[in-house]
Amino acid sequence: MSLSRAVECDRCPRPAVVDRPYAADHLCDPHLAETVRDRFQRSLRRQLPKFRGRTVAVAVSGGKDSAVALSLTHAYFQRRRGVEVVALTVNEGIRGYRPKTIRSARALTKTLGVRHVVVRAQKELGTTTDAAALRMVGTPPCSYCGVWRRQLLNRAARDAGADALVLGFNLDDLAQTVLMNVARADVARLGRMAPHTVRQDGLVPRVAPLAEVPEREVYLYARAAGLPFDHAECPFAHRASRNVFREAVWQLEEALPGTRQSLLRSRETIVHLLESVGTVTGAPQRCAECGEPSTGTLCRACEYRRELSAPVMGVAAS
Ligand code: SF4
Ligand SMILES: [Zn+2]
Ligand SMILES: [Zn+2]
Repeated sequence: MSLSRAVECDRCPRPAVVDRPYAADHLCDPHLAETVRDRFQRSLRRQLPKFRGRTVAVAVSGGKDSAVALSLTHAYFQRRRGVEVVALTVNEGIRGYRPKTIRSARALTKTLGVRHVVVRAQKELGTTTDAAALRMVGTPPCSYCGVWRRQLLNRAARDAGADALVLGFNLDDLAQTVLMNVARADVARLGRMAPHTVRQDGLVPRVAPLAEVPEREVYLYARAAGLPFDHAECPFAHRASRNVFREAVWQLEEALPGTRQSLLRSRETIVHLLESVGTVTGAPQRCAECGEPSTGTLCRACEYRRELSAPVMGVAAS
């Protein structure tokens, strides 16, 4: 929660900018920045133990979360010689939205001097989210858009020779995903979500070093650090089923501070239990159509592409 009246920071005499009920403290901008950096580094070390890779890819959308993820990843690896950080952006083809966020992503990569690769869905998949939304009217666009983006990011990270793919997911995002998968009884997907504990053939391990940082704190950090990021909201976002879980997590956190962290810890325990009984939680097969890692004969990205090219029901051929 942000503060409107002057409350002192619990670590210094400066005015606090954030109240953190889950930690029972108030922090000023510099102390908040310090804890964000600490939590980021601790998570990265934990998620990438004994990292010996040469290339780290960061998914950058142009929003605040990925801006913070890129800036902190860049700072983290700057001290290590021979590690290149490369930024990856997927242009899903969403008019009035994605071009603006790509401009912000470009501004940040330019400032940091990081190589920036933009992957176009139109070129790679032969379609865009806008085009699919016009055709698959009954399906929430986030369903296929998210699947396609994940696949394109994985492919781009692999093409860049990346040993890890950093995602900007914050604590709120991950808590919502945990709750969503539990509500759908999708334990397998709970195991497949980032951060990855097991390396899968063809899948660049995804890590989420902002996993311990709530969304509000990521925003305050990005603003205080002067990072270029875009506030635009995707025109399809209101149709996402995630919205229900976002609201639920907010209410739970308000009533019971620390719920978000508890949801993440529950997920970790479940994943460890699954691993201890040898349950495969990854994507062990290859898609028969595109060859990408898949949990079935066809990957979800190809299933959606097929759905898109299927004749529209009720339209008679002339
Ligand atoms: S909000 Fe949904 S449709 Fe928009 S970019 Fe994100 S996943 Fe795609
Ligand atoms: Zn302070
Ligand atoms: Zn496929």
